[in-house]
Amino acid sequence: MAIRVAINGYGTIGKRVADAVLKQNDMKLAGVTKTKPNYEAKLALDRKIRVFSSSAENLKFFEGFKVSGTLDDLLSESDIVVDCTPGKIGATYKPLYEKHKVKAIFQGGEKHDVAGFSFNAYCNYKDALGRDLVRVVSCNTTGLCRMISKLDCNFGVKKVRAVLVRRGADPSEDKKGPINSIVPDPVTIPSHHGPDVQKVLPNVDITTVALAVPTTLMHVHYLNVDLNKEASEADIIGALSKQRRIILFSAAEGIDSTSAIIEFARDIGRSRYDLQELAVWKESIKSFGREIYLLQAVHQESIAIPDNIDAIRAMTRLVEAPEESIAMTDESLGLGRK
Ligand code: NAD
Repeated sequence: MAIRVAINGYGTIGKRVADAVLKQNDMKLAGVTKTKPNYEAKLALDRKIRVFSSSAENLKFFEGFKVSGTLDDLLSESDIVVDCTPGKIGATYKPLYEKHKVKAIFQGGEKHDVAGFSFNAYCNYKDALGRDLVRVVSCNTTGLCRMISKLDCNFGVKKVRAVLVRRGADPSEDKKGPINSIVPDPVTIPSHHGPDVQKVLPNVDITTVALAVPTTLMHVHYLNVDLNKEASEADIIGALSKQRRIILFSAAEGIDSTSAIIEFARDIGRSRYDLQELAVWKESIKSFGREIYLLQAVHQESIAIPDNIDAIRAMTRLVEAPEESIAMTDESLGLGRK
């Protein structure tokens, strides 16, 4: 029987997780919640997705709207909830999820402690088997974990130093900035991203620095990695090419910026121009034996969506083997450049 999935918070991440769940044969989208029936709620109804009020108090806003009940009603007919409410709000729902005895997935805007376990499908799928609470790490941490885990299993990773150039806001966030500035975010070193990677990969020696810049499309990471054994540029390209969640782009072919990557996503018909794969510029990969450098780009709105799907499978034990779930997710979402 298909696992019934509820989505609490139908915004940037919630919409994308809902769409991905609809593409899985072993899952059923039980419904989504909205605080108010805005255009996104109406579009959801048009797509035959059931919409619930996020609380009994908010029901008053849904007059004249085909609302299916409240979050309580949705949870009572779900096996698992994917919390996609804004950062720090998710934790406030934890007691309700526990009361309803539904498993819960939180996003990277919540602290690790909310679940006591931070997840990335390439790194620790098996440790998530049967768990009731899991936090899927943020977009930046997902991008770092994907790269580090694949370098580690091929060559062994000794040390990572990374600079993260972060998008100032998502495209729909017109109240956020910076508009004309480069902001060390935070100004202290390390940024929280390195310790967050260590929640997933505890043995990695990593230090990160982060800057926020006036763009909405993607983040860019500059990585300097010390490996345990020598790897040529061709070795690294060979190892990364095998992963469907990593795409190697060539600047020589014209994909030489984040806007060109997004144009590529549009050209191949990706919904909302999402690129759920980690993008790596082939020409940026430079090896000095055991020391390597590379530049990678992260589509912040969509990179962690496949990991949310794998987390559902692991927690509900739909699939025990990580490779099997990852392959199912990749196939259903059409990941990997053909
Ligand atoms: P968002 O603001 O786009 O969407 C949040 C949704 O939750 C909105 O529909 C909002 O109306 C709704 N909401 C607000 N308060 C609520 C409440 N009390 N109860 C129920 N619903 C409520 O936020 P987002 O960008 O989708 O972020 C969700 C989570 O995902 C956060 O933890 C964030 O840190 C994380 N995340 C975001 C990104 C990104 O780039 N946007 C990437 C990775 C992870």
